[in-house]
Amino acid sequence: MQRPLIDGFGRRISYVRLSVTDRCDFRCAYCMPVDMAFLPKRDILTIEELDAIGTAFVARGVNRLRLTGGEPLVRRGLLELVQRLGRHLGNGLTELTLTTNGSQLARFADGLFAAGVRRVNVSLDTLDANRFRTITRTGEIAPVLDGISAAKAAGLRVKINMVALKGLNEDEIEAMIAWCGAHGHDLTFIETMPLGLIEEDRTDRYLPLDLVRARLAAHWTLQPLEQRTGGPARYVRLRETGQTLGFITPLTHNFCESCNRVRLTATGTLYMCLGQEDRLELRDLLRTQGPAALDSALDIAMQRKPKGHDFVIERRAAAPAVGRHMSMTGG
Ligand code: SAM
Ligand code: SF4
Repeated sequence: MQRPLIDGFGRRISYVRLSVTDRCDFRCAYCMPVDMAFLPKRDILTIEELDAIGTAFVARGVNRLRLTGGEPLVRRGLLELVQRLGRHLGNGLTELTLTTNGSQLARFADGLFAAGVRRVNVSLDTLDANRFRTITRTGEIAPVLDGISAAKAAGLRVKINMVALKGLNEDEIEAMIAWCGAHGHDLTFIETMPLGLIEEDRTDRYLPLDLVRARLAAHWTLQPLEQRTGGPARYVRLRETGQTLGFITPLTHNFCESCNRVRLTATGTLYMCLGQEDRLELRDLLRTQGPAALDSALDIAMQRKPKGHDFVIERRAAAPAVGRHMSMTGG
């Protein structure tokens, strides 16, 4: 390996999230407005460019890549990208994975496994078909459940991500734990983050996960686990069932001191922090100077990675902490 990527605070960057498209077939109410404007195709990185940037990161010691979006499985050529990046598995890369809404997963599950993917995160905020329509606005639950079954049948480990939404799905948390337990899926809860303008005020739906934990602790034994992935999740084991639950709490707990990641948007903008505006443009550099120019750009990015984010979810805040949507930065 060439020099590892170490930032100005001594944190080693070993994990990169690559957004492969800003487009999505859903319009989840907490994520984007119904009339979300998507970017012109010419602005989006080609499959070759995504491969070149992913490869440049792997050459600098990044051992985990996650493809996300928007919805990665609506991106044309996605499987080709997975196959291309998959050549680094066992050769610097230890994990290639993706986060998906699951709507197209049934079609892709076998191909993903064949290309070396072993785990997928599937976002599922409810098990109720009507609520699913309310939350996703353009989505249907049946193909997602089929996709999850197909992923399991293909040999992929599934982790369900559930955004905890006050007054919307908080009464389903126990049911989701039971469903994941019965199907052998991992489960992680996420707090809503103030990213990009949407129609409603996110504070109305903000459910602190401390509260969820406290409610669960009333009738389960939660055993905190040391297991960390360098990311924002903290894990507990439910003693009664042995299940592992994750909690992603950017608002109630700060996790920046152990941050090991950066994010690339579908247009090739590298964000060194999900919650800050500073960025580095890699697309035009790559288009004008070729892949060799990426290496020194990554050094510059390391010097500029900030210490942390300053999210607050506040009723009086006039604007979200960050103007771009999660679908843009790559959740
Ligand atoms: N479309 C794919 C999906 O939904 O899994 C991948 C992209 S999506 C932006 C990634 C994750 O971000 C999903 O689990 C989604 O629920 C979550 N998400 C989107 N907007 C969010 C927000 N404002 N706060 C917290 N999580 C958010
Ligand atoms: Fe699409 Fe994922 Fe955002 Fe939902 S959370 S609108 S599925 S990008």
